[in-house]
Amino acid sequence: MDRKELEAKVLANVDGDLLMKHTEFISSYDRESGSEGDWKAAKYFEEVMTEYGLDVEVKSIESLISLPVSAEITLDDGSKISCITQSYAVSTQAGGLTEKAVYYPECKDVEGKIVVLKGLASPGACFEMERKGAAGLIFINGGDYPHNMAISPVWGMPVPETLELLGKIPVVSVTKKNGELLLDYLSNGSRDITIEAEVDTDFRNIPLCIADLKATTPTDRYILFNGHVDSWHKGATDNATANAAILEIARVLKDYKDQMRINVRFVWWSGHSNGRYTGSNWYADYNWEDIHENAVVNINIDAIGAEGSTSYRTVDSSAQCYNLGYEVIKELTGQEPKYSRIQRNGDQSFWGHGVPSLFQILSLQPESSQGSDTFVPGLPWYWHTTEDKFEYVSKEILTLDTKIYLLAIWRLITQPVIPFKFQYLGKEILRNLEEWQNVAGEAFDLSPLKEKAEVLERLFCGLDNEICRINELSNLTKDDEMKALKLNDCIMGINRALIPVHYCSKSPFEADLALSMKPFPGLTDLEKLSSMDRKSLEFKALERKLIRERNRIFHGLKEAVKLIENL
Ligand SMILES: [Zn+2]
Repeated sequence: MDRKELEAKVLANVDGDLLMKHTEFISSYDRESGSEGDWKAAKYFEEVMTEYGLDVEVKSIESLISLPVSAEITLDDGSKISCITQSYAVSTQAGGLTEKAVYYPECKDVEGKIVVLKGLASPGACFEMERKGAAGLIFINGGDYPHNMAISPVWGMPVPETLELLGKIPVVSVTKKNGELLLDYLSNGSRDITIEAEVDTDFRNIPLCIADLKATTPTDRYILFNGHVDSWHKGATDNATANAAILEIARVLKDYKDQMRINVRFVWWSGHSNGRYTGSNWYADYNWEDIHENAVVNINIDAIGAEGSTSYRTVDSSAQCYNLGYEVIKELTGQEPKYSRIQRNGDQSFWGHGVPSLFQILSLQPESSQGSDTFVPGLPWYWHTTEDKFEYVSKEILTLDTKIYLLAIWRLITQPVIPFKFQYLGKEILRNLEEWQNVAGEAFDLSPLKEKAEVLERLFCGLDNEICRINELSNLTKDDEMKALKLNDCIMGINRALIPVHYCSKSPFEADLALSMKPFPGLTDLEKLSSMDRKSLEFKALERKLIRERNRIFHGLKEAVKLIENL
């Protein structure tokens, strides 16, 4: 059987009925982080994976979890407006918080006010408003149901330096219709509003389920294939469908251990919805060396299989993984997804370890039926609401999404060389550096980085050709196998050298905030530097900080160059 025939046979094993059965069971419970439903789902994964013969463990992790309890808005005539509060917002004192309310950005003076604004209660928006001195926030969402959010900018467990950043003000969200009532109320200027909100933020035990499928030929390397188990409400399409896909992919792959060159580690995190990624952050902190040494790629799966989600328009990934995602989506759907640089959200806890990412959110709704004010355009209207129920799951789309993940994982674990394509990364790095140089203008010189990146880009072309050459061979000689081993070591080393500088602003052992970050985030201060007085102490101090950052990036680029030159 040739490679294509075997792939077709493996894909044909995906069982849509079984996917639906798992999804129906998982979505029959509310699953906030650490709840009974969350634990029931984790125990279910343990049972199923044990039945499939995998090594499986459910850990109990003590984590800071924030549960919204209740919220209400009262106007000065005593009328009530229903709303929800958010994870990591604070509770109001007895009797609520009463302040003058203003509509932002029409009124920019928000100090001490309750601020009414349109959009999703995102950590970035809450962080900005709190910094401006707002006393409380009311977000007007775009649909008929308000969207649940976790508003903390802290990634996972706070440390002393980030404790201060936990939210300090009450935050609530209302529907579009209730937002219109509020705007009408404020149409003649600032008026009193009372917010009452209760949020229960405390340490709770959450489940972490880990199952290993090991290749017949022993290896320590693994694919980290993962998704969150905890969800808002019943969370059928976010994330019971993805949980089911992980189970189904394990069932199919267990019969092909002799074909595997890399192990697969299946992980279900909790602490995603109500813990700001605290489950994956815990795993990242407590397994740093193992992840750094052995994790080949982080494959995240989130919000798949929703009815009507027929658009595959992006591959959320690191650039070197894009081509693999593109090829499997094109082969299975005929669509040609664009590259979308993986963002700082969704359990992307492993950049410091040097692990690249492939996939996060996959199938999306076409524009005509997408929800408004969802986290990314293309998520359905019921995303993160009480309405995310089993009735909206499509067996056909869930099966197709599962096959896309399965085929990508199959190629990663069975090909002699990890099938990444680095040319895209080389081009992205050059593009990013050029953008930063434009920001810096004459104030700072990035040419040493540019020169190194140009060398790297040329070397990447040769490396890609060699990866393809070996992977296309139908039979590998001993020499080819040796070459494949060397190439895989080189690929692992390149990722370890580049991802921490390209994606992190801190040391590899720390966690950046859960806020959006630019490529080479350690260069962000160039925005400030370019407008400073070059003779000032402040300029010279910041310049020195950026020299150190330039050294850090240069070192990463140089390490990658050396690895390829020494092949
Ligand atoms: Zn999700």
